Amino acid sequence: MAERTLIIIKPDGIQRQVSGQIISRLERRGFKLIGAKFLHINEELANELYSVHRGKPFLSGLVRFISSSPSLVMVWEADGIIEIFRTMMGATFGCNAETGTIRGDFSCGKRFNLVHGSDSSESARREIAIFFRPNELVNYDLSNAHWIYGEND
Ligand code: UDP
Ligand code: MG
Repeated sequence: MAERTLIIIKPDGIQRQVSGQIISRLERRGFKLIGAKFLHINEELANELYSVHRGKPFLSGLVRFISSSPSLVMVWEADGIIEIFRTMMGATFGCNAETGTIRGDFSCGKRFNLVHGSDSSESARREIAIFFRPNELVNYDLSNAHWIYGEND
């Protein structure tokens, strides 16, 4: 099975109505959508998602932001997607993110940076399980997979 990652369009992305533009980038890169939920992440879920940041000074502000308005929570699949998507997101703060990345093209602040992407396969497994039961992730073939992945030998 190809690698999977959790990608969230955070409240600022939904409120600014740029979800379609972000999803277009994922589709254009050849990623496959496996699961999606539009929901208002509550404080409890936000604390679970960001449990690795427990004790850090920005956690309470981060939880307030993520639980302030709805998010689009998705699972996407592709070989190497975790690292590829981290590169596509750009640096954590929009003000430091390179132009051409999602954060670098859509933001210039710090906390409000539009997207979340898992940072390792262990994080991806843990984070996906917070939002999706296994039977909510859909298995299917992309008809153009051959033309996206090609021959890599
Ligand atoms: N964040 C923040 N202040 C900081 C660092 C991070 O508000 O000093 C927020 C920001 O929205 C970031 C999220 O907390 O996306 C999670 O931080 P992480 O270090 O995991 O960054 P990411 O993996 O999202 O690039
Ligand atoms: Mg992170």
